[in-house]
Amino acid sequence: MSEVKIKNHLLDHGRKLFKAKKTFSDFTGIKEADVLLNDIDNYPHAFVIGCVMDRQMRAELAWAIPYRFLEKLDHFDLPKLAKLSQSQVYKLMTKPEPLHRFPDEMSNNFHQAIKKIKNEYKGDASIIWNNTPSSAEVVYRFMQFRGVGPKIATMAANILARDFKIKFSDYYSIDISVDVHVRRVFRRLGLVPDKVSTDELIYKARALYPDFPGLMDLPAWEIGRNWCKPKQPLCDDCYMGKLCPSN
Ligand code: SF4
Repeated sequence: MSEVKIKNHLLDHGRKLFKAKKTFSDFTGIKEADVLLNDIDNYPHAFVIGCVMDRQMRAELAWAIPYRFLEKLDHFDLPKLAKLSQSQVYKLMTKPEPLHRFPDEMSNNFHQAIKKIKNEYKGDASIIWNNTPSSAEVVYRFMQFRGVGPKIATMAANILARDFKIKFSDYYSIDISVDVHVRRVFRRLGLVPDKVSTDELIYKARALYPDFPGLMDLPAWEIGRNWCKPKQPLCDDCYMGKLCPSN
């Protein structure tokens, strides 16, 4: 089966997801935490802090950190958060139990992110993505936050565009965010060889669809999560079944 057909089928599903109406996004599995993260009109900084925390631990727990702060402080208001000292943030991050695997580093990242939003974005994190910026500009702005690398920055831009329906002037710089699911599905679909580096995967997605490489991210991730299991893939249920060389 040709690579073009496989790519087009994957992209068709990506487009459907991209064009779908805005829905409530499940980041944490905790209703109240997800309400906060989905409220990007009133709490855009909660989404940014979720991105900043999303490193080296289970994503669901990392994304819940803004809500854990809200529980402890009884608010998640930017002006009040900006008044917290680094040691106060550290205390909130660590007591009574650590909220993150790396509480020292993440307290610092949290504190710096809030300061940055206050000082550089007038306390309004939505300035990062409002007024139809280019995808490269949004990825760059996220990468300016302490601890945020290209993977998280491009994931943030992808979520904003795909799930929150934020308009960008282009989508060239939104890459796939490589994880175990995306890697396994790209491999089994024959789009990349068995041994492939993360950079090679990212460039393969760019080569397949330069206009918006990240459009293949969610379809590949969903296939991996739902059907393309590591040991016993459920090929009969997978919509790529008829095209997939591994089936
Ligand atoms: S058809 Fe099977 S092997 Fe291919 S992507 Fe789907 S679940 Fe994975």
